[in-house]
Amino acid sequence: MPDRYSQIVNAPVVSSVAKQVGLPQPVDLDRFRPGSPVIAGPVLSGAAPGGRLERPLKKLLDDIGAERAGAEGKAKALVFDASGIADSTELVELQRFFYPAVPRLRSSGRVIVLGTTPALAGSARAHTAQRALEGFTRSLAKEIGGKGATAQLVYVEPGAEDHLDSTLRFLLSPRSAYVDGQVIRIGKGVAPAPEIDWDLPLSGKTALVTGASRGIGAAIAATLGRDGAKVVGLDVPQAENELRAVVEALGGEALALDITADDAPDQIAAHFSGGVDIVVHNAGVTRDRTLAKMPEDRWAQLMEINLSSEERIDDALLDAKRLNPNGRIVCVSSMSGIAGNSGQTNYAASKAGVIGMVESMAPELAKRKATINAVAPGFIETKMTAAMPIGPREASRRLSSLSQGGLPVDVAETIAWFASPATTGVNGNVVRVCGQSLLGA
Ligand code: NAD
Repeated sequence: MPDRYSQIVNAPVVSSVAKQVGLPQPVDLDRFRPGSPVIAGPVLSGAAPGGRLERPLKKLLDDIGAERAGAEGKAKALVFDASGIADSTELVELQRFFYPAVPRLRSSGRVIVLGTTPALAGSARAHTAQRALEGFTRSLAKEIGGKGATAQLVYVEPGAEDHLDSTLRFLLSPRSAYVDGQVIRIGKGVAPAPEIDWDLPLSGKTALVTGASRGIGAAIAATLGRDGAKVVGLDVPQAENELRAVVEALGGEALALDITADDAPDQIAAHFSGGVDIVVHNAGVTRDRTLAKMPEDRWAQLMEINLSSEERIDDALLDAKRLNPNGRIVCVSSMSGIAGNSGQTNYAASKAGVIGMVESMAPELAKRKATINAVAPGFIETKMTAAMPIGPREASRRLSSLSQGGLPVDVAETIAWFASPATTGVNGNVVRVCGQSLLGA
């Protein structure tokens, strides 16, 4: 469904009235197009004294051929290495760098603050100061959202300095258009980061995408296919024709299967006798009712699809050793699983459970040199959300720092970043793709 509000408040005459009365005026967000550079515009970088991430940051900016911003003029990205901040009195370094820099930030610009994982910062004072970066970054994200710009905090564990590349490329680029106000934690890596072709990072990889016949799943399949993966799309037998249309356009394969069927885990494991590199648990349903009107079958069917079947599929793939080295499991949670939502006790429980699955499995997957992470989408423009009543739909769109809904491709790009063989330092993370929704902040 087109965002008519956006079209109206940005129309020539209405625009100035909307500005005067303070209505949100969503900006058209930059999105990735094949062939476009990682970042189209100058990058301004700075560091607090004692930082340890300037070297990998400089190398990355050189590798991507980023233009550097001068003393004046607009900047497309502001990147600040705050990893050296070891005491609350040093937090003023943030003010010193960003105060003159923020007005220079362009539309759809990027702010990235780099820090040290607080618990590993070396002292109680350093822990406190590093934790403070979260409040700073989330607030700045709210201040710059009006121009379609985003801000993220990346905590880098000591010893993980060489695992920044794929995350910084993602966050600097338009691929992260609808990821805003997030905290990403980079560890030492479950496997060495391989040499990869950044235009085709998933080349040679096989990916399973459940619920791939439409909506977000179809966008995930297309994005992983674009990045070079051989995609096996899975959906219920009733959706086989649509599924075939999606995957055959990508040169992939269709697996018509209900993931709740008793033999589904074994069938999936058997299909990947040669191993699978990327598993995306996207299939999901809503069965909304307030709890007082929720019959058991409505609860149980949803929980089977959204959570229990995912656990069984993971177990079957891991027991049969079908997840390849440097493998990836990526789950699709939801903002409802974080904030809760009236009428969605079943759905929110399942999606919070997905986050629990990520947390509980991350150590085991690290032992197997693999990762598991989740995206938590907010309001995404799909058939599902187009069917919402206008009041909740408009509220969901506007109550975010970017004042608009996201697109299925925004979720897909985030999944492609998690799925990249270079993203070996990101394990057990949950990243919201919600335009910094004000819910569940
Ligand atoms: P959708 O209904 O368009 O697509 C879901 C797909 O899953 C469908 O193709 C469906 O056939 C498939 N599916 C359902 N049950 C299945 C089963 N038993 N076996 C195999 N396939 C099955 O939904 P969507 O909006 O594209 O959502 C995709 C995922 O994103 C879901 O997990 C959803 O909960 C999550 N999500 C969506 C939004 C949003 O705003 N659209 C927000 C947060 C989270």
